[in-house]
Amino acid sequence: MRAGNRHGGWIHRLLQATLLCCLLFAGSAVANTVTANWREVRPGDTPAGVLREADQRPLPSFDPTRLQILPNAPAGTWVVVRTMPPWTAGDRVLSVRHPGYGRVSLFDGDRLVASTALDDFGPPLHGHGRLIFNVPDTIPPSRALLLKFDAGDAPPGAVTIAIDTWPDYLRDDGSWMVFATGCFAVMLTMALMALCFALILRDMTFGWYTAYLLCYALIQGLRSGFAFHPLEMESLAGMADVLGATATALSVSFAALFALRFARIDEFVPLLRTPVLAFALVMPLLVVLRATGIDFLVDMAQLLLQPLVLLGALLMLVAGGIAAFRGSRHAWFFLVSWTPLLILTALCGAQQQGMLAGAPWLPDAAIAVGAFEAIVLSIGLSDRALTIRHDRDRARELADVDPLTGLLNRRAWTEAATRVFEAGTARPVALLFFDLDHFKALNDRHGHAAGDRALVAVATALRHELRPSDLLARFGGEEFVALLQGVDKENAMQVATRLCRRVHRLDMNAADATLTVSIGLAMRSPADTVQSLVERADAAMYSAKLAGRNRAVCAGNAGPVLVRRAEAK
Ligand code: GH3
Ligand code: MG
Ligand code: MG
Repeated sequence: MRAGNRHGGWIHRLLQATLLCCLLFAGSAVANTVTANWREVRPGDTPAGVLREADQRPLPSFDPTRLQILPNAPAGTWVVVRTMPPWTAGDRVLSVRHPGYGRVSLFDGDRLVASTALDDFGPPLHGHGRLIFNVPDTIPPSRALLLKFDAGDAPPGAVTIAIDTWPDYLRDDGSWMVFATGCFAVMLTMALMALCFALILRDMTFGWYTAYLLCYALIQGLRSGFAFHPLEMESLAGMADVLGATATALSVSFAALFALRFARIDEFVPLLRTPVLAFALVMPLLVVLRATGIDFLVDMAQLLLQPLVLLGALLMLVAGGIAAFRGSRHAWFFLVSWTPLLILTALCGAQQQGMLAGAPWLPDAAIAVGAFEAIVLSIGLSDRALTIRHDRDRARELADVDPLTGLLNRRAWTEAATRVFEAGTARPVALLFFDLDHFKALNDRHGHAAGDRALVAVATALRHELRPSDLLARFGGEEFVALLQGVDKENAMQVATRLCRRVHRLDMNAADATLTVSIGLAMRSPADTVQSLVERADAAMYSAKLAGRNRAVCAGNAGPVLVRRAEAK
């Protein structure tokens, strides 16, 4: 069988997916070594009779390398296949690609050679993505073969028919398997990744994307036959039609819900929010109509499905396009991935109607585009995850920090100090409690803004004087705390005294403004909690106030004992 009818390697297939237009012509430039004629099955037909008839008068012919829509005749369709010379000896493989879910039988004269369907698990031979029949060398290659396509609920797809030697067939089959497995693996991996993100970030955008991608993978898995062979999902046998239609309807629904959030359509294109949402709600209704089993409603659902899928996809494309041009960054990801998919869906739809016969690779390209879309959107979703994490980090940062001084606030400090206590370090821990002296008077005399500037100056001075590991925070109004680890009482008093001096020396930019601080020091005892340590340091600070301010007092077990006044300027 000629090589031109075989698809190339999987890289070639990926290229086909991205270079749709070029390959539209490439697909039609193949030579012919098999011819085919067809006619509808009539009552009283026998295989041998049909073959005789085909010999005696020309039946309608078609090029089996180009997609052929076979009529969904009530009793089925006969196809007579003839191989042109030069003939090769040995067993051959007759393969039918995209046969739909109907049954196909091969006859040699009146003898039934084999009969199979995409979701049939009985026959010893299974093609991957196509139906195959072994044509033994006992059947001369010059002899015409007869195929019978049974009538099904759905019309058979647009088919191509080929006869290959076994080595050629196996090579082609292997390349298709690598291609399809790669594409499905990408789709499923990305879906799993999105599911993890949905759970970690509690963001349904990722959830809708996972659902959409799984639906698309299922549609392609059923259409290509990959779900049946090699995945051997026997439970899907006989359900392919219903399942395919359901997954198609739901995929549009999930895609709409995903696009609304991901491309921020409701924010950037509020006018189209309701129509897109309406699609998301209407598509599952089609599934319900189908499920009723009432002929009229089932037919209506069947009739509406494809047009609504196309309309919905187009609407999302327009909404995504407008959102992108209005500044939604993620809408660009949506556009880049969605546009090829939409074009492919439209082209495959057209092919089902008998157009684009020279592009038998289109269904494979639809699988490749699914993988491409999964990759692009996953990059977009990763970007969204990064943005969400960034926002949360920022919110956390804002929640932890005092906006005026940039120090930790009381809550964040208490949490951090508790963590230090829980770590149970053996090193000594000292707590300094600072309260600025006569701060109200400074506010009253120089204004609240000057008071704020003083607070910032004190915070900066304390930060510079202390080590980065000392937990420094603004505890309240004009009160600060610092938790010093690995510092004994004597050293802590030295630090406190130094800080008193440092605050006293601060330049307040006003002739009569001086600022001093009273500091209470408490050393952590094994029984201390953060709260009890703060209370003791606060009490020591109060003693410092009573003792005349601008000094540090260390809390003893029975009250403040060590008092050290800061030197004057
Ligand atoms: P003492 O020496 O006894 O501590 O006297 P004090 O004036 O500092 O007394 P108190 O601690 O009661 O007063 C604290 C003052 O700090 C009251 C309030 O006006 C001022 N204050 C609290 N928060 C801020 C702030 O964010 N900015 C400014 N400018 N002032 C503040
Ligand atoms: Mg105070
Ligand atoms: Mg004060």
